[in-house]
Amino acid sequence: MAKRLMFFVDFDGTISREDVCYTMVKTFAREGWAELNTLWEEGTLSTGDCAQATLDLISALPEELTAFFARMEIDPAFPVFLQWAKEQNHPVYILSDGYANYIDLILKRERIDAEYYANIMEYREGWHIHMPHLNPECGKCGVCKQGKIAELSHPDFTKIYIGDGYSDLCPARHSDMVFAKRTLADLCGQEGIFVYNFQSFNDILSKMQEIF
Ligand SMILES: [Mg+2]
Ligand SMILES: [Zn+2]
Repeated sequence: MAKRLMFFVDFDGTISREDVCYTMVKTFAREGWAELNTLWEEGTLSTGDCAQATLDLISALPEELTAFFARMEIDPAFPVFLQWAKEQNHPVYILSDGYANYIDLILKRERIDAEYYANIMEYREGWHIHMPHLNPECGKCGVCKQGKIAELSHPDFTKIYIGDGYSDLCPARHSDMVFAKRTLADLCGQEGIFVYNFQSFNDILSKMQEIF
C-alpha cells in the first residue's frame, strides 16, 4: 500500500505568485513598515505585534483592499496539484500567517475548495488583526504553523511542507519532507535541512509522481 501523504502549504508567494500581504503593505502602508518587518524577521516582534503596528500605518478602506486583492494571481499549477492530491486521498492544508481576507477571496474566485488557517483583518475605524489560531505556547506566530501541523497530522502520514519564507522555517524543521524556494530555501540551507527546490506546483507534482 502506498504511504499516505499529508501536505501543509504556505499561501503567500507559494500558492499566490506574489506575496499578497507584503505587496499590500508595500502599496498601502505609510513609512515605517520596512523597519517593523525587519524586527519581525529578526524575531524581535511577534507576528501579532508587527502586524498590528503595520496595519496602523494603512488607511485604505475595505473596498480599496478588496479591489487590490482581486488582482492577485495564483500559480496555475496549484489547482492541478490539489486535484491530484484529492484523487490520491492526500489531505492538503493551507497554513498562512497572512490574512483570510484575501485567501478566501482568491480561492473562491479560482473555485478552489481547500481548508485553510489564517489571521483575519477586521475594519473598525482602522484595521485590526484578529488571530483565531494563536498558539499560547509559541508566542511568536499569528497562525503557529508548527502548532497546526502537530494538531492536524497523524503518525501514519508522511508530512510534507511547501513554502517560501521566514514563517515556514519552524514547520519545515518538523516535517518529513520539504519543498522550498526563495528565503525558505536559503534558511534551510543554512541549517542543513534537506529540501527539494521548486518554482511551481508542476515541479512538486512531478517529484511526487517520481518518488511515490
Ligand atoms: Mg510565503
Ligand atoms: Zn509558532
